[in-house]
Amino acid sequence: MRRINLISDKSARPLLEIRDLNLDFGTPRGRIHALRNVSLDVPAAQVVGIVGESGSGKSTLAYTVIGLLSENAEITAGNILFAGRDLLSMPVQARRRLLGDRLSMIFQDPMTALNPVRTIESQMIDIQHHEQGSRSKKGARAIDMLHRVGIPDPRSRIGAYPHHFSGGMRQRICIAMALLVKPALLIADEPTTGLDATLEVQIIRLLKDLQKEIGCSILFVSHHLGAVAELCDRVAVMYAGEVVEEGSVRDIFHNPAHPYTRALLECDPGRIRQRTRTLPTIPGEVPSLLGNRKGCIFRARCSQAFSRCVHEDPVEYRIGLDQVARCHLLDEERLVSA
Ligand code: ATP
Ligand code: SF4
Ligand code: MG
Repeated sequence: MRRINLISDKSARPLLEIRDLNLDFGTPRGRIHALRNVSLDVPAAQVVGIVGESGSGKSTLAYTVIGLLSENAEITAGNILFAGRDLLSMPVQARRRLLGDRLSMIFQDPMTALNPVRTIESQMIDIQHHEQGSRSKKGARAIDMLHRVGIPDPRSRIGAYPHHFSGGMRQRICIAMALLVKPALLIADEPTTGLDATLEVQIIRLLKDLQKEIGCSILFVSHHLGAVAELCDRVAVMYAGEVVEEGSVRDIFHNPAHPYTRALLECDPGRIRQRTRTLPTIPGEVPSLLGNRKGCIFRARCSQAFSRCVHEDPVEYRIGLDQVARCHLLDEERLVSA
């Protein structure tokens, strides 16, 4: 399916273009359709957030872009174009060269990225293997980057091992490492989950400053809608393996068009004004991703579902200039007003 160009400067090609991506996981119970017809753009120098309940496919999408999938994953259709080149048809060696050179990742658990038996210094020097210069020059760059992410006294601490740092500091070190290579695209999967609220705010601000300075794009996966609102330019809302709505942060947070986006916002603890003992949740559960299905994936939980939602898959409808959503209601409204 050809996608509407949602970028305001229509002459600029997005840095990352995900087109009709489908991915299954093979399991003893059958094939899990974890990504269905996912299309998403990440424009150059912009931050795109991905939100959605647990199990909606956010991490699967992030890991597919970076090329770190488990063995039981199979991409059954689609393309991922990075700077115009299809990552999925690229030879493995060429794709590896991109990783760590133009593409970087920050994981939820910093220990996934750090080697526990090597010093921070040696890891930060090695990550610059694409760069010119001596080890001492690279060491100086590493100290400078540690200073910028707020590690106190980096000159004396750079020789320490990962376990000598707190969780928040390790995450800062991972951000420093990911940005040291000046990537064109940084993928961050829940980089602040598990950190306390103050640290989260500090890390989000840091990411924002460094993104502006380096001019890179970020694909930012998060449960935390407040963090997404603060950091991102655009947001994609995922549900059960599909992108159900996408638009600018302003449109998604102030003018959500899809019933799922509205339900997600209503349950956001950051938006609840009344005092309550129990936080609201969206009634029902994310549906099984096993097997084939017909109709809207959200219909079992949607208070506005009608007969068409059972038989027909909603396509992407455009709202205004810069927002799209997959919901039949948008087509019905269009028909009424025509
Ligand atoms: P969370 O917010 O909990 O991190 P998520 O949106 O990142 O969730 P994913 O981890 O991408 O969701 O998972 C999407 C779906 O794919 C889930 O149903 C999950 O159980 C399934 N899945 C993920 N990895 C595998 C795997 N290796 N094998 C089988 N199923 C998997
Ligand atoms: Fe609800 Fe139907 Fe829209 Fe799906 S297509 S979100 S079931 S109204
Ligand atoms: Mg995840």
